[in-house]
Amino acid sequence: MKETLDILFRLQKLDDEIDALEKEKAKIPVDKEEIGGKVKEMEEAIQKIKEESLDVAKLRDEEEIDLKQIGEQISRFQSQLYQVKTNREYESLQHEIDALKEKSSKIEDKILELLENTERIAAAAAAEEKSLGEYRVEAGKSIAELEARDRQLAEQLAAKRSEREKLIVDIDRALLARYDRIREKKAGMAVAVVRNGACGGCFRRIPPQETQELKKMERIITCEGCGRIIVWRDE
Ligand SMILES: [Zn+2]
Repeated sequence: MKETLDILFRLQKLDDEIDALEKEKAKIPVDKEEIGGKVKEMEEAIQKIKEESLDVAKLRDEEEIDLKQIGEQISRFQSQLYQVKTNREYESLQHEIDALKEKSSKIEDKILELLENTERIAAAAAAEEKSLGEYRVEAGKSIAELEARDRQLAEQLAAKRSEREKLIVDIDRALLARYDRIREKKAGMAVAVVRNGACGGCFRRIPPQETQELKKMERIITCEGCGRIIVWRDE
């Protein structure tokens, strides 16, 4: 029986290692997806900046057209100044010209402002492109590392699983089924070791008489608190 309990203890240890490896392996695709998501996010930010840049260019084109039309109108009015007959007409025309010149000057200011916007947007796009380029290099490295680790984990898991196969050959089928059932119900821990006079699974104090019996390792003892198989280890 002592041998069976030793095997159960080793099986639990092995399963703990397998669980940890599986957990790490399962996280790899999540980490990879996160990296891909960040690249996509940065690409979208750049796309948005490019669209904004096009909008500003379009606005500038519209203002340029207005400016040109107003300039032509001013030229027409100025040539009409020589043909007017009365002072009143002359003043009225001059007034129109002044108003158009003021409008034209405002449009020029607006165009300058849009030009400044264009420069600001171009600088922002360049900065984003630069960070994306840098991040891509980092992301490429991280993904290569994750993939290498994934392959390593697969190898380690295969080795541990084959070790497990060899170990369970010597355990009675019914006992193994019991072990699996407890493990399933108790968050992966079917075998608990006595630690500081308590069950290592649920921390129930173990009475001295039960401890004596556990030390003998003559039969399988389950914890009254958590239902796990308790084993004694000499530390
Ligand atoms: Zn317990």
